[in-house]
Amino acid sequence: MNELTPMMKQYMSIKKQYKDSILFFRLGDFYEMFFDDAIIASKELEITLTRRDCGLDEKAPMCGVPHHVADQYISRLVDKGYKVAVCEQVEDPATAKGIVKREIIKIVTPGTILDPMSLDEKSNNFLASIYYDDYGVGLSYVDNSTGEMYTTQFIGDERYRMSFIIDELGKIMPSELIINSNFSKEKKELNLIKNKLNPFINVYEDNTIDLNKYKELIYDFFDEKIIVKSNLNEKIYCLLSLARLLIYLKDTQFNMIEHINYFQYYEPDQFMVMDINTRNNLEINETIRGKTKKGALIDIIDKTETAIGGRLLKKWLEQPLIDQNKIEERLDIVEYFTKNLILLDEIRNLLKRVYDIERLSTKITNGICNARDLLSLKLSIEIMPELKKLLINSSSDILKKISLSLDDLQDIYLIIENSIEDDPPISLKEGNIIKPGFNKDLDELKNISTNSKQLLAEFETKQRNMTGIKNLKIGYNRVVGYYIEVTKTNLNLVPNYYIRKQTLSNSERYFTQELKEIEEKITNAEEKAIQLEYELFQSIRENIKSQIKRIQECGRTLSYLDVLSSFAQVAIDNNYTRPRFNNDGIIEISGGRHPVVENVIKDNMFIPNDVFLNGKDNMIHIITGPNMAGKSTFMRQIAIITLLSQIGSFVPARSANISIVDRIFTRIGASDNLSQGESTFMVEMNEVSNIIKNATSKSLIILDEVGRGTSTYDGISIAWAVVEFIASNIKAKTLFATHYHELTELEDKIKGVKNYHVTVRENGDDIVFLRKIIQGKANKSFGIQVAKLSGLDQNIIERAYEILEVIENRQLTKQESESLNNNESQISLLDYKKNYFIERISKINIESLTPINAMNTLNDLVKE
Ligand code: ADP
Repeated sequence: MNELTPMMKQYMSIKKQYKDSILFFRLGDFYEMFFDDAIIASKELEITLTRRDCGLDEKAPMCGVPHHVADQYISRLVDKGYKVAVCEQVEDPATAKGIVKREIIKIVTPGTILDPMSLDEKSNNFLASIYYDDYGVGLSYVDNSTGEMYTTQFIGDERYRMSFIIDELGKIMPSELIINSNFSKEKKELNLIKNKLNPFINVYEDNTIDLNKYKELIYDFFDEKIIVKSNLNEKIYCLLSLARLLIYLKDTQFNMIEHINYFQYYEPDQFMVMDINTRNNLEINETIRGKTKKGALIDIIDKTETAIGGRLLKKWLEQPLIDQNKIEERLDIVEYFTKNLILLDEIRNLLKRVYDIERLSTKITNGICNARDLLSLKLSIEIMPELKKLLINSSSDILKKISLSLDDLQDIYLIIENSIEDDPPISLKEGNIIKPGFNKDLDELKNISTNSKQLLAEFETKQRNMTGIKNLKIGYNRVVGYYIEVTKTNLNLVPNYYIRKQTLSNSERYFTQELKEIEEKITNAEEKAIQLEYELFQSIRENIKSQIKRIQECGRTLSYLDVLSSFAQVAIDNNYTRPRFNNDGIIEISGGRHPVVENVIKDNMFIPNDVFLNGKDNMIHIITGPNMAGKSTFMRQIAIITLLSQIGSFVPARSANISIVDRIFTRIGASDNLSQGESTFMVEMNEVSNIIKNATSKSLIILDEVGRGTSTYDGISIAWAVVEFIASNIKAKTLFATHYHELTELEDKIKGVKNYHVTVRENGDDIVFLRKIIQGKANKSFGIQVAKLSGLDQNIIERAYEILEVIENRQLTKQESESLNNNESQISLLDYKKNYFIERISKINIESLTPINAMNTLNDLVKE
């Protein structure tokens, strides 16, 4: 340290406090990065890595970016998951004694960034804080760009604690996490989080927790009413995670958190839960394969007109309701819209004109908005009177009520309308922001400069007449200011009191005392005007800032209307119906369709299907049928219709009668956990065990080919046991697609199990998919026919038929009559059990068996 140059010592002492950030260190016109930061940044930003003398034998790696474009480089680093701390020169280098003083003025992190370029307009960007110990867990999270904050907690057994955390994180997908050191020891869960969400992780030590200080902090930040309403004092886990979130926000945002005005506490079981696999499997926000929005459910059902509406819709999809009254309230509005098409059209046309009010509010409160932002706000709230009128004139009581509670913000509209120019520049330091007539002093200054321009014109004519130089011109540039320009050919006419300013190849430029005086007048007035415009703008902004809660509230109502009108539009465009609800545990859908698949298969070629599930005699459907027949599509469509019902949307079905579910579970296909070094089978079993642990009689479970990841017998046995367990212990409505035809035997053995299959028509060696789900089991697998359809080489297909025949013949002799009857190709579970018992008995060592042992062994075998 001693050998370092004084500036490097300063750098080191600052870097020490911001070890986890890339430090942008201001040096003159550049921000420089050193050592490891430089190596990382040069690679990530593709900028040249150089070296700089730092006092040590070896030069320090260094790279840098010009200060005026630094923001875009910072955003790029943050987008790539880094944290950036910006260190500024905080005194004038010209007057500084010794090393210029430098301080951190800004910290940009993935979970707090405000740069619109780094934010997806239709998604929230959450920073989440977790406090975890042996008894419970608290989770609080905030979107710094929109000003909303949430908290929840869970107290209970470890396995539930963990699934609570993983499910909630899977829902909010935070880009940054703050966790206590206790949670950071949970390596398995942390790896899962890193793998699926890849957030930036900040860890704090448990021994730094100070509950009294935390309480003070929370009382300081929140309204007492909010604390009392959410009973925060009693919710210790919420308190712990929330306080840490506030501390982090204050530290990184330098206390600029006044825009965080929306706060909500929720109970974990207040919403339907879907774990992260289910969200992925149902392709709600993105497709499994391409990870694209196109082809996902949201792409079909999001016809919102605004960014705020888009984000709300995504939130609703993440947390479907379980309170029927709330669902019906949404559905009532959707239905009203679908029946009043003109109103719907008018509302949607108005909403088209609304900008991202939430993020604009944040910019206004944090002082980073420009005149164009205020203009966007004005244009957004311009619609309010008309919108209120439309709603109040409707015949819907709820819409009338919304209209009455809607603040039309016309005072704010007028402030902006009267003050801000209609086409202001981006910069606040160039003038042209404030309208004439808003401020007398400004008008006067502007008058001087316009008048002075008149003076200049008069001066020009005067000089022309006086010198007789016809093409004499008054000009201006930034470097030399105003000048009189005379071409070379007229130089002999120039009076001797003209003072030379600049020589060009074809002309000379001069000034005179009089010109200088006019120039001073103009520039003085212009500079003053620009400064005054800036100050006026700041006071307008402050004025609007004081009303920010009203604006945010209005934004929330607009987003609510936007989502519901989007639901109505989707329902009309795609022919959806209003779901009904029952309390009898029944899910009955007739003419159900998969919203995404039906959209891909155009021309109404999608075959609708019915389902009837209840927790009793129709609890578990075993669905058989060849690959590609439509089993997955069918099962997913039931889950999606249930999900859509619970967010208050109409559904793709002729009719749907839904009993509200507490959770949807899916176990479908090979998952992407393989990169974590787990085998397909392990992943599959982990998922199944998670389902078994968490499902209740109110859940909906979808299992697609469980047991496939291991040998046939093991697979059948596991699948069989899982179905038995669900039927006898959980009693959840379950759809189970399988290739193990043996499982269809369960229909006769377990009450509540019913066989269904997807129909196909045989046509010689070919098959035609009919895609209708009907009761009963499939009697063939048609694997080779499907392979043929896929275009597999004809030689291979023929050879496969030959092999199949041999195998079938071999099994026929082994399996005897039972398989002969139904032409099955796979061994039945009963045979498998027989083999198992033969093996167990043959392993018994009779010589060493005491009579009592023999009795016990026999007893065990009988029980099995
Ligand atoms: P499985 O799970 O039985 O292998 P999928 O559900 O994946 O079959 O369906 C395969 C394809 O069949 C789908 O991608 C879709 O194109 C088509 N399909 C599925 N169900 C239907 C349906 N009800 N109507 C029309 N086409 C369907």
